Amino acid sequence: MPSSAAASAREILTRLHDVMAGRNPAQAKLNAVVGIIAEAMDSEVCSIYLLREGVLELFATRGLDQAAVHVTKLALGEGLVGTIAEDVEVLNLDEAASHPDFAYKPETGEERYHSFAGVPIIRRERAVGVLAVQHSDPRKYQDVEIEALQTVAMVLSELIANAGLIDTATTGSDRPQSTAAVRIPGQKLVEGMASGHAVFHQPRIVVEHTVAEDTDAERHRVYAAFDKMREQIDRMTREAEFGVGGEHEEVLSTYKMFAYDEGWARRINEAIDSGLTAEAAIERVQQRTRQRMRQIDDPLLADRMHDLEDLANRLLRIVSGQMGTAAQMGLRQDTILIARNLGPAELLEYDKRRLKGVILEEGSLTAHVTIVARAMGVPVLGRVRDVRRLIAEGDLLLLDSVAGNVFVRPSSGMEEAFEAKLALRQKRKAAFAALRDVPPETKDGHRVTLMVNAGLRDDVAALDVTGADGIGLFRTEFQFLVSATLPQRERQQRLYKDVLDAAGSRPVIFRTVDIGGDKALPYLNKEDADEENPAMGWRALRLALDRDGLMKVQARALIEAAAGRTLNVMFPMVSEAWEFAEAKALFEAQRAWIGARGRRLPAEIRYGAMLEVPALAEQLDLLLPNIDFLSVGTNDLTQFLFAADRANPRLAERYDWLSPSILRFLARVVGPCRAAGVDLGVCGEMGGRPVEAMALIGLGIDRLSITPAAIGPIKAMVRSLDSAALRDFVAGLLARPPRDMRGALTDWAVQSGVDLA
Ligand code: PEP
Ligand code: MG
Repeated sequence: MPSSAAASAREILTRLHDVMAGRNPAQAKLNAVVGIIAEAMDSEVCSIYLLREGVLELFATRGLDQAAVHVTKLALGEGLVGTIAEDVEVLNLDEAASHPDFAYKPETGEERYHSFAGVPIIRRERAVGVLAVQHSDPRKYQDVEIEALQTVAMVLSELIANAGLIDTATTGSDRPQSTAAVRIPGQKLVEGMASGHAVFHQPRIVVEHTVAEDTDAERHRVYAAFDKMREQIDRMTREAEFGVGGEHEEVLSTYKMFAYDEGWARRINEAIDSGLTAEAAIERVQQRTRQRMRQIDDPLLADRMHDLEDLANRLLRIVSGQMGTAAQMGLRQDTILIARNLGPAELLEYDKRRLKGVILEEGSLTAHVTIVARAMGVPVLGRVRDVRRLIAEGDLLLLDSVAGNVFVRPSSGMEEAFEAKLALRQKRKAAFAALRDVPPETKDGHRVTLMVNAGLRDDVAALDVTGADGIGLFRTEFQFLVSATLPQRERQQRLYKDVLDAAGSRPVIFRTVDIGGDKALPYLNKEDADEENPAMGWRALRLALDRDGLMKVQARALIEAAAGRTLNVMFPMVSEAWEFAEAKALFEAQRAWIGARGRRLPAEIRYGAMLEVPALAEQLDLLLPNIDFLSVGTNDLTQFLFAADRANPRLAERYDWLSPSILRFLARVVGPCRAAGVDLGVCGEMGGRPVEAMALIGLGIDRLSITPAAIGPIKAMVRSLDSAALRDFVAGLLARPPRDMRGALTDWAVQSGVDLA
């Protein structure tokens, strides 16, 4: 036996290569393989068990009784072989019979052999068989021998798959080892229920060729892939600093650590030395790492393992030239997309008609990817752990973000319960739909205005579906996010005009572009990509005033699109009153310019500001006389009031929108707005939740712009409300806030018969 793992594996692989390339039938090849391995490892027995119809069957053996071939069968978990396959673990024993899982199979005649070593044959991270060697001396096999066996098992998995020797039901559709149904919890980011099949945003590569023709060439392929991967990670790190990418900073620093880890690169090279292709070597090293990590029960390490898995998959994708995301690969009809995290632009690449749901390992409630998904009407479950281990590509999933669950490979009982709940939801939805034409008016006759948030062309349809009063926030930057280049004026104008046409007499509030933060555009602000804190950086109105060419184009597009009608314009991230004044002056100058050319102008332009930077609240006396409406962006306001990054999953649930700080802040704004005759509304996600919306109405805020799906539930809540009693109650709460504000508001609602959906 050669002394190094690489040398011993290479010797076997060289011989296997010829067998695999030959024209013999698969069974003959397996018979040859066991002979080669037994000889090379100086073992009396070598056997191959393959999983067929859920059972491990002896397919070939050198040393055991030939009569046992295709006769000896073991269930998963049964005997040593079944245990290896079930646990996807190696067993190396000097005395097989004394192992508690040993199961005696008399037909094999194996009682003569004492030592036993078996390794799983793995395909797509699941065991599809077992390769075992046995010897009459009671001795453990050496580490190098086990290594060699594992490398050989890898090659065998290719042979087996190509020969169609195992159930396609077991491997072809990427079935996981355990086909048991599981429920995985997560956090509701966008409410909804969907059934569909798992599609990974970054598909897992299945290694197809394992034995190298030319080891030097394989080595060069890996070098080149490492270079490219390092380049990508460096670029992602630079982009993350500017907020372009969806990746978390911590993840990127781990990526970087691994990408430059010489040990990892060396191990892959050693695996190539043993005769594997670049792809197989990467996978082989990954298998080994997985196996080691399974033995260490440390959640922090498990997280890092996860990062390494991502990176190994990236390396595999580079080496094999399969670089696209699932969005570019032809999506199946009922896709439930799985990703670690996504940027808003990445999500927008997906075909909305085929995308039924999204599962994120990270994610937070007010991150823009969540807002985009909400706009697309796609349910999202966030902070779901262990997805790669528990879900395989193509698995049937029942996503219930309402309950904060996803059911994987559901049992029939789960499916029935899901269907029943879905039917109930549909019924409720139908009840909400029946409210379409009734006004959102409280029991005591107080009319509330309910508008929808939009940003995509198709969103406008939501107006008719929901019966909303208008569009209270049209996020114009979405058009910029979906474009590869800066949208020209004509394109902008066409969109705005289409939206106004579809809205008819209902008002639309166009917000000028809010770029920056987690909505940075690679084609626009690349050269300014060195901000440490992009959410608090050069974004939205700040950027638009400095790059006024951009805003001038948008102003002209909006003014011309609204010819003859009312144009409502709103500026984002106004921090001081003079910024609003400058922006308004810019629009007025464009109005004059267009007017001077004799073109038709809007009948009226109404100007509004977003209140999302707390500092602006201290300048209301300067601002209010000049504006027609004010809209509170509670997503940003909350992050700035609490100094808590809205995209950071760790902070996602730390602060409640019903905190006295937020409610008191808003309460202070209501009086001055009313006194100045300025229409006040809320257009952050907060207004789309029943208890929160109730609190806002209790504060005297009567215009809410919310996600279309929330119109029905919020209207039902409004119609069950006594607004005068609510205002008194909320005033009392704010004077002496209870510790549990949410509890107090919910209790009041229940006692007062308020419909909280
Ligand atoms: C907000 O900040 O609340 C808001 C509505 O704007 P956006 O979510 O687009 O930043
Ligand atoms: Mg905002």
